[in-house]
Amino acid sequence: MCGIIGYIGTKPAPNVILEGLRRLEYRGYDSAGIVTLNNGQFELRKKTGRINDLAAVLKKSPAHGHTGIGHTRWATHGAPTDANAHPHLDQSGKIALVHNGVIENHQSLKDKLIAAGHQFLSQTDTEVLAHLIGNFYKGDLTEAVRLALKDIVGTYGIACVHVDHPEIIVGARRGSPLLLGIGRNENFLASDVSAIIAHTRRVVYLNDFELVTLTRDDFQVSTIEAATVTPQVREVEYAAEEVERGKFPHYMLKEIFEQPRVVENALRGRIVHDEATARLGGLNLSPADLRAVDRIIFIACGTALHAGMVGKYVLEELARIPTETDYASEFRYRNSPIDKHTLVFAISQSGETIDTLAAVRECRRKGHKTLGIVNSVGSTIAREVDGGTYMHAGPEIGVAATKTFLSQITILTLLAVLMGRMRHLASTRGAEILKELETIPGKIERILQQTDAIQKVAQKYCDAKSFLFLARQFNFPIALEGALKLKEISYIHAEGYPAAEMKHGPIALVDPHTPSVFIAPRNSVSDKTMANIEEVKARKGPVIVVATEGDTATAQKADDVLYIPDTNECLQPLLTVIPLQLLAYHIAVARGCDVDKPRNLAKSVTVE
Ligand code: GLU
Repeated sequence: MCGIIGYIGTKPAPNVILEGLRRLEYRGYDSAGIVTLNNGQFELRKKTGRINDLAAVLKKSPAHGHTGIGHTRWATHGAPTDANAHPHLDQSGKIALVHNGVIENHQSLKDKLIAAGHQFLSQTDTEVLAHLIGNFYKGDLTEAVRLALKDIVGTYGIACVHVDHPEIIVGARRGSPLLLGIGRNENFLASDVSAIIAHTRRVVYLNDFELVTLTRDDFQVSTIEAATVTPQVREVEYAAEEVERGKFPHYMLKEIFEQPRVVENALRGRIVHDEATARLGGLNLSPADLRAVDRIIFIACGTALHAGMVGKYVLEELARIPTETDYASEFRYRNSPIDKHTLVFAISQSGETIDTLAAVRECRRKGHKTLGIVNSVGSTIAREVDGGTYMHAGPEIGVAATKTFLSQITILTLLAVLMGRMRHLASTRGAEILKELETIPGKIERILQQTDAIQKVAQKYCDAKSFLFLARQFNFPIALEGALKLKEISYIHAEGYPAAEMKHGPIALVDPHTPSVFIAPRNSVSDKTMANIEEVKARKGPVIVVATEGDTATAQKADDVLYIPDTNECLQPLLTVIPLQLLAYHIAVARGCDVDKPRNLAKSVTVE
């Protein structure tokens, strides 16, 4: 689930690996380790905690060599301890392995290996795979890995080395991302391009059930069945500087502030003013196909799911197409009836989210066209869908998603205009929405200027134990997203609800210590939301309101107000979410939380 980096070249491997692990830190992890090959010996160092803890170990007892592998672990089997940290060795101690993912049949394999005399030093599923590879090893490491993987049920991205073969690293993947980076006199293996972007932009993304054998100046890709694969070399589109934090104290804040550009990038080249419509080139569907669509399903997880929920409101409003949004993890196991006029859209920042990927595969297995809205170019979902749209949001390093959410809802709005203009949406309304969309980046800038004011509000409420987030219609998913952001990074309990639904339960939580955040910009349901604000105030609950600039009537009802500029009702989510991101951010900072690496969370969730 977390990070892998491998290096083979002429530079000191420990430096390259440690630096790569630092670039993977954002993904969330609990321990880290590295092994290098030096004069026929392994130099193995591993440590629970942060990369700095591993760096301290390496300082005391340096590692050497020009070949090595490193790992950040997000424990699935066995507690985060030094012994459970990767790399793991096989029984002979000559093979070292790092692994992301889960070996589902590890217990039965382990029982057999123990019966054959193997001894294990950790509780991990990974160590079982290391021993299995050792069992198959007869002089050819690639072959041993291949044979071992045939016995495995589960997911893996792996990097493996043998002490007698400092000239090679073997990698393989199934369900967990792995790519190789091609340098000059050096090659890399990584789970995420940001680990190696400082060295090379030329990469090959491995597919499931593919292995790679890397030498300093060559590589061979093959399948688990030993068929040779002709790899496709791609250029990564972003530069090393984009993964730097710059002047911002946290990546999350940097990414919140990038949002005006992110919306511009999502819109670029996609508005057709003359026809008052949108153009989404990569959908790979003809106008006739698009016109035949009579139902849309968005499948996603976490923040992307909330984007899909906004998409439902916008699609139904502008295109009049019945739309559903479902948790990918539920959808994939549910026998959802889909017919040939249903369009399924997977939404995922990383393009590696395992549940979303599995849902895509399930749809395609049943013969349905499945499209993607993805940020990471070349990611597994991007490669497996029939078509789709890239977000072009740049790398998102903060674990709590912000800018990719904005990008997703921008694209979904374009999709709604496109589908709407093929149906009932008048050109005047289409033109009005598109014109307003183009003003959104400037309006986001105006909200961002209030960050200091929002910080003061955050100071006031940062000791609260629980928050409610309440809204109606287009902004209801923003209530869910506001609550999610707060939970993720400040660890304060928070619930998002449709404002009227509050009376059916959550109102019992309202008391003078439980703030309610109402997302109540001026729109067709503002009077109704005002009534809900009164209900909370009557029970002495503190009220924070996200209101439209100049709306003094709503502001007067609130203890604190966060303002957004006025906009078209169906575009309001693009603005209302910004003050909530900033509120969560400043509350988390005030509580001393590690905003970019929240506890227990990982950036891209590649285990079910
Ligand atoms: N399942 C392995 C473990 O618990 C790998 C976890 C990971 O992906 O980091 O050690």
